[in-house]
Amino acid sequence: MDKSVSQRATTLLIVTLLIVTSTALAQAQSSEPPETTVHTVQRGQTLLSIAQEYGTTVDAITHANGIADPRRIYVGQRLVIPERGEGSDTMELVPYVVQAGDTVSSIARHYGITWQTLVHVNSLLSPNAIYPGLVIKVPRVASSGEKPGAFPQTVGSMIYLVHPNDTLRRIALRHNVSPWTLVVNNHMTDLAAIYPGRELVVPGEGPGLLPAPFASIEIQPLPVTQGTTMIIAVHTTEPVKLQGELFDQDVHFAEESGAYYGVAGVHVFTEPGLYKLTLTAWDSDGHSTALTTEVVVRAGHFGYERIDLPADRASLLDPAIIATERERLDSVQYTFTPERHWTTPFQRPCVGTITAYYGTHRAYAAGPYTSYHTGVDFRAPTGTPVHAAAAGTVVLAEPLTVRGNVVFIDHGWGVLTGYWHLSSIEVEVGQYVEQGEVVARVGNTGLSTGAHLHWEFWVGGVSVDGLQWLDESLPWPMAGDLATGG
Ligand SMILES: [Zn+2]
Repeated sequence: MDKSVSQRATTLLIVTLLIVTSTALAQAQSSEPPETTVHTVQRGQTLLSIAQEYGTTVDAITHANGIADPRRIYVGQRLVIPERGEGSDTMELVPYVVQAGDTVSSIARHYGITWQTLVHVNSLLSPNAIYPGLVIKVPRVASSGEKPGAFPQTVGSMIYLVHPNDTLRRIALRHNVSPWTLVVNNHMTDLAAIYPGRELVVPGEGPGLLPAPFASIEIQPLPVTQGTTMIIAVHTTEPVKLQGELFDQDVHFAEESGAYYGVAGVHVFTEPGLYKLTLTAWDSDGHSTALTTEVVVRAGHFGYERIDLPADRASLLDPAIIATERERLDSVQYTFTPERHWTTPFQRPCVGTITAYYGTHRAYAAGPYTSYHTGVDFRAPTGTPVHAAAAGTVVLAEPLTVRGNVVFIDHGWGVLTGYWHLSSIEVEVGQYVEQGEVVARVGNTGLSTGAHLHWEFWVGGVSVDGLQWLDESLPWPMAGDLATGG
């Protein structure tokens, strides 16, 4: 990286940071309402050009006017321009993105403050209430005589103002971080969600030094929602064998392009809260290093339904039959193959309307809501082609009692898709299929009350919502071309 460019960029960031923090402080300190400036949008103006004209930021204008999408303003729109504060010599708050391995004490020590101050400033409920990816405010004392360039270079994070023509990749390259790091640290759900004037948190060298051989840990998304998938990326200083444990289950890692990736599913009934993720790395000498970090699970939104089965089919719910079939599925669902055959997004497996979503909490007859819908239902006439959602190897293709004719495909890295109630199966176990290949036909076999495709998605042995994987804006680095062969 060009050092002078980097230094100029750093200075620019720091200036921006000063404006942001001093504006916030000025607003907090003024007792009487500031005079309001109103700007009427002219042809050709953007939020960035307006922000520059008034010496404020796009985010400040966006916030002051409750603008939903900063990319859309219209000629004649009246915008309140927030007051720009004067420099002050009071406490400034600097954003810091909590890294894996950080504690409130280690961050406080690094910034020369007490952990109590950190807890107070951030209204933390306890010193344990931080987790990787959380953006906290770190107070630092700045005197009015201090020039922006005198900022310590060890500031945990910086605010970068997106310029016209910036791309995420370009910004990442300039700051020597990965595009994924920017996505994670800015809680972005859409890779294209950068626009001129947006403020991005760019993590710098923080206090969170991980024990060797761990170099970095990135988890996306954080927090993760019940019934969805997260990907854990680990960089190390030397080749290792890596193993993870989360929700009392193993997380298997696969190596690709010098990084290790673990795909983990969050069971739909996992209680929202903080969970420990333990990673253990073995070096070539067999020495192991373990590291524990935390993952936040938040509640998903699921429907509730009661199901009354026709009398002739109710007998199929015999516990012995259910158990036998469960064992058959377990034999394939925990499959882990180290080769990745998939890219994101996955392909919709079938045409047709979605009639039942994943995760809907279910009760049979008058019973309790102890089960849930483990897949996504697509209503389609019998005979409609069923396509492989991604490339992979067929690991199950046979008739079952409850699920009817089923096909399961192993896509690698512990990711599998399943197709139920099929009228016909058009592949064999062991067969490699390409994404989009017809593997079966929609049907009404097994415990089904009308022709439809029930589509399952399994990650590390956990059933998750497949619709997440169809989203084109998935913030994972596995989009597009495969890094490894198919
Ligand atoms: Zn279903």
